[in-house]
Amino acid sequence: MIWSEYETLPREEIEQLQLERLQAVLNRVYRNVGFYRRLFDEAGISPEEITSLDDLGRIPFTDRETLRVNQPYGMFALPLREVVRLQTTSGTTGEPIVVGYSNNDVEHWTELMARSLYAAGVSKEDVVQIAFDYGLFTGALGFHYGAERIGATVIPCSRLSPEKQVELMRNYKTTALACTPSFALQIAETVERSGVAPAELSLRVGIFGAEPWPESVREKIEDTLHITAIDCYGLSEVIGPGVSVECERKNGLHIFEDHFIAEVIDPSTGERLPDGQMGELVLTTITKEAFPLIRYRTGDLTSLDRSPCPCGRMTVRMSRVMERTDNMVVVRGVNIFPSQIERILAEIQGEKSRFEMVLLKSEGVPEGIEVHVEMSSGMFVDEVRKLMELEERMREVLEGELGIPVQVKLVEPRSIHA
Ligand SMILES: [Zn+2]
Repeated sequence: MIWSEYETLPREEIEQLQLERLQAVLNRVYRNVGFYRRLFDEAGISPEEITSLDDLGRIPFTDRETLRVNQPYGMFALPLREVVRLQTTSGTTGEPIVVGYSNNDVEHWTELMARSLYAAGVSKEDVVQIAFDYGLFTGALGFHYGAERIGATVIPCSRLSPEKQVELMRNYKTTALACTPSFALQIAETVERSGVAPAELSLRVGIFGAEPWPESVREKIEDTLHITAIDCYGLSEVIGPGVSVECERKNGLHIFEDHFIAEVIDPSTGERLPDGQMGELVLTTITKEAFPLIRYRTGDLTSLDRSPCPCGRMTVRMSRVMERTDNMVVVRGVNIFPSQIERILAEIQGEKSRFEMVLLKSEGVPEGIEVHVEMSSGMFVDEVRKLMELEERMREVLEGELGIPVQVKLVEPRSIHA
């Protein structure tokens, strides 16, 4: 289900709109935010020189540190009397950052969350239980406004216990659940334990976000609660939830490009990467009034896909975020992410295994990695020859795919602590 005509604009029209809005926001921040004026002046760029989307690449990045040193109001592009709401980031990666919204910002956010919920299949017929924390963090209110905009019936229950959530679901015939995936998993486990048959619940869809969740968690939630589970992405600095969402195809998250320009860069060099390559997501907000962000490094790893989606949306899709750049290590100029190793090991073994990665250094410089992989309980420790063969195979495949020296050691089950 597609909520807005902006989601199906032809590419050239989307890009034309992005350029117009980009130029407007650059002028606005240059005029109103001392930080950006200094940033542009020092880089020798005036907003008028940005005449194509490619030119955006000339502007220096901003990041969380930028926001931190300009707390609380240094990055605001409007005076406080024009700001109607303050929220903060969750603080999971450092001190919370305060962000502000104008009336128009709240209106746009509401529309974006209506789009997100509608894409997940939520309509005015639905009863939406919102189990995000209502408070400074952006999750709950984003979903709340979006669901009301669609005309759904909202239950603003916030973070009650999983048992209470299930009770409400049963009594009020909740059809849609919005919360973090880890909390959805707790709810699913509660349903499983309590012996409530999923058929006793009316639940049919879940829309989850605010933390990474692997496909295995999605399957567990879907199978236990008999629902379809949709991934929704956003971050409070940028707007909150409502940056991108999966459609029913679940083949990447459609980015709302009439409000955000997405780039993917190599996190160590800052170079823009071509579509399909994994790197750090950089977002520029092109409609926000109170707290615009230019080339903001999200720290989230993803890749972009501009191929047409069968759902009919024309917007670029980002792959699901499973990891942050904080977990990346650089060995001999190659960016290595634990998620790559996890994927390669799973391909070799046909199942996920626990592992840890240790840097091998020579005179303090990383020269390679050693990967410790837990044996599954099915392996026999006394079959030394087989184990050595497996180690050797893992080493070969990892070296081949990563392009750096790798050593592999199989270790006892349950000897690695997450
Ligand atoms: Zn789609």
